[in-house]
Amino acid sequence: MKIKTRFAPSPTGYFHLGSARTALYAWLFARHNQGEFILRIEDTDLERSTDEAIKNIIDCMHWLNIDWDQGPYYQTKRFERYNYVINKMLEQGSAYKCYCSKERLENLRKTNITSNTKPRYDGFCRYNNYYNNNKPYVVRFLNPIEGSVIFYDKIRGFIEFNNKELDDLIIRRTDGSPTYNFCVVIDDWDMEITHIIRGEDHINNTPRQINILKALGAPVPHYAHVPMILNNTGKKMSKRHSDTVNVMQYRDDGYLPEALLNYLVRMGWSYGDQEIFSTDEMKKLFTLDNISKSASIFNLEKLQWLNQFYLKKMPVEYLARHLTWHINQFGYDTHSGPNLFEIIPLLTRRCKTLKDMAAHARYFYEDFTNFNNDAVKKYLCLVARKPLELIRTKIAAITDWTFTNIDNVIQKTAEELKLTMDKVGMPLRVAMTGTDQSLSINILIYYIGQRKSLKRIDLALAIITTNAFN
Ligand code: GLU
Repeated sequence: MKIKTRFAPSPTGYFHLGSARTALYAWLFARHNQGEFILRIEDTDLERSTDEAIKNIIDCMHWLNIDWDQGPYYQTKRFERYNYVINKMLEQGSAYKCYCSKERLENLRKTNITSNTKPRYDGFCRYNNYYNNNKPYVVRFLNPIEGSVIFYDKIRGFIEFNNKELDDLIIRRTDGSPTYNFCVVIDDWDMEITHIIRGEDHINNTPRQINILKALGAPVPHYAHVPMILNNTGKKMSKRHSDTVNVMQYRDDGYLPEALLNYLVRMGWSYGDQEIFSTDEMKKLFTLDNISKSASIFNLEKLQWLNQFYLKKMPVEYLARHLTWHINQFGYDTHSGPNLFEIIPLLTRRCKTLKDMAAHARYFYEDFTNFNNDAVKKYLCLVARKPLELIRTKIAAITDWTFTNIDNVIQKTAEELKLTMDKVGMPLRVAMTGTDQSLSINILIYYIGQRKSLKRIDLALAIITTNAFN
């Protein structure tokens, strides 16, 4: 039998790391087994679902390269089908109309609370064949009263729920719209899902869904409930928390999708001590057997470490594509400077993110007038004038533009003026970048080019003069 999994997000908030990991595990399980992976948007909650959240889900999946074989399906487009099944269930007696008023249900809830019993529907309309065509009604599922639901969770083992604990679930509201748990069941049945891999916050829904599947004579799929991810404040990552980060933020902050996928796969799953997994390797090795039962805690340093690893490992052409996206965010043009392919290996040696790389690459392409104040105060002072002037003369005299010749200029200047390399290098660095941080100075000057380098030294000298008179 062909394995089919699905990722079924509700578009009611950000696509966060927990959502991404659930999608990844369901996708990898399907790919590992040559199965199919379905994307289904569970948008029945009309008030809380938004188009923006749907776009966010799809953008994140594209960015992470998690592809799907079917979908996206939208539950709001399937109401006719859900209602057809509900009507059939009414005919067959596995569902019933409930006319209980809001007041009655509210009183029931209060009684439950005072008597310290779990708030649940008492089955009044189930037992009282009380039909009244003029009154609005909901449709409830006739949940079994006896026995229990036992299922084997592939991560957590056997789980049992007593049927006495479960309500006669509302499956259609008075306005005729089907409810969440019911739609999930019909979709999983129609889409022939064999393995439901989802967050453990859905465990309580599983026995209700299994009872409905059984009442419909539908096959019961396998279940795997994945533990939660805790954010760095120890709270569950959830769409409802404002401190939960949208996955797209990781793209914006300069992470590679490979690094995030590798980070996510290891967060709760292991294969011996191996830390690095290419996507192909993940597909080859991923099973549900080695998923941890306990929650994982987000660790930014590990993600940064992985990102730097992939920045060093991925082909330059590939990095250039991602880096260009970041450069466009900064809004500078790379046409009038060195080839990106040449400078990428220099940048990956010291940068942890693509954003950082784009910030550093800027020096190669763009003249600037905004200097870092502290750097100016510290390094563009009167004592820096002489070394900068000498360097300017020597740079202007270079006929063969090589790293070594540029390096010689800096060394010779330090020797002739009897200064440390730092006293020469730091003002030069500020002149070239406007800051006191950058790549090796000779590499920087080499790629900035002779003409532009001279122009920048002139500007720095002008700043020194201005500062001296203030
Ligand atoms: N729509 C649910 C959510 O976004 C997932 C439901 C499921 O996987 O069964 O949390």
